[in-house]
Amino acid sequence: MHNPASPSLAAFARGKLAEIDAADLTRRLRPTLRGDGLIVERGGKKLISFSCNDYLGLSRHPQVIAAAIAATETYGAGAGASRFVTGDNPLYGEVEARLARLKGTDGAIVFGSGYLANLGIVPALLGEGDLIVGDELMHACMHGGSRLSRAKILLFRHNDADHCAEILAKERPNHRHTLVMTEGVFSMDGDRAPVKSLVEIAKRHDAWLFTDDAHALGVIGDGKGSAHADGADGQVPLQMGTLSKAVGAYGGYLTADADTLELVRHRARSLIYSTGLPPAALGAANAALALIETDAELVAKPLAKAQLFTSALNLPPAMSAIVPVRLGEPKRALEAAAKLEEAGFMVVAIRPPTVPDGTSRLRVTFSAAHDDADVLRLAETMRKLGLVTP
Ligand SMILES: *Cc1c(COP(=O)(O)O)cnc(C)c1O
Repeated sequence: MHNPASPSLAAFARGKLAEIDAADLTRRLRPTLRGDGLIVERGGKKLISFSCNDYLGLSRHPQVIAAAIAATETYGAGAGASRFVTGDNPLYGEVEARLARLKGTDGAIVFGSGYLANLGIVPALLGEGDLIVGDELMHACMHGGSRLSRAKILLFRHNDADHCAEILAKERPNHRHTLVMTEGVFSMDGDRAPVKSLVEIAKRHDAWLFTDDAHALGVIGDGKGSAHADGADGQVPLQMGTLSKAVGAYGGYLTADADTLELVRHRARSLIYSTGLPPAALGAANAALALIETDAELVAKPLAKAQLFTSALNLPPAMSAIVPVRLGEPKRALEAAAKLEEAGFMVVAIRPPTVPDGTSRLRVTFSAAHDDADVLRLAETMRKLGLVTP
């Protein structure tokens, strides 16, 4: 090893890494070839992936790939600047119009990613003296945006609308504006938020409801997401999501009413001070959203595959394309993932801090592209390995 430029910095890093390793929380980047999207190759071995968020297989769809290539040829490999300078090519308008149509809103804003969207949206709308009441399992970037806003943050028990109402009854009167935050489909648990109840509660307390539909768009509610799935069309004022999961491309978005969107355009720092998306991502997203809008049969598949898996194992029916198999300590989850890898499946172990301590798990995700036979084979393998007790 060469001499570090700062020995104290390198020593600090080594100490922290030793702690992480001792807790079985080391994360390794492993080069992975996604081939056709479903069969992935790692270390020379081919595995059937049950760990991608490409729920509709659209990242490999010929029309989506062709649209990405066409966008690159027309607009270049990079955006060249922020959207507000020269990066706002016409594909943005097309993608935003599709999102607005799908969600039934005045419009949409496309951000650099879902993560960047949450870092930008929350501080654009809330500040000191305001209150955020969020589900305790909300995504890291929802916490990130909340903290950046300097609003007070209180968490309610997972999917417990009554607890959310209790907090609002007590705290809402002491704050100027209040945001209620949840995920439409929870990324690590696959369950759905009680959107309709949260709509009622937010209305009663004059709070603004925000849903993160990263895992809902393209999968539930005819592909329109969690508000539509829960019979709350037009009642969730702030719906964000990503173009990187079921849409198969890259980017984040917010849908809202025209005035709110205009304010966010003026104040979201992650939108203003970051370069626009590579045109290929927008071309791909545009083609993928067109398929989501029109191909109801495709959109219905990931949930059906997940439910085939849960019914084969006598688990409660899947509510999304994500099924968690909780195993407890990190080591158990890692060992289970290694055994499945030996059997030809890639199911990645999820450990803290992505999930709470003691809830390390296998997170099984389903795609429209999976064969029913492979889904059943995975279920049988997991049963034989004793990972799921019926
Ligand atoms: C993946 C994810 C994001 C981030 O979206 P990216 O486009 O990947 O940055 C945000 N929220 C939730 C719930 C997610 O699962």
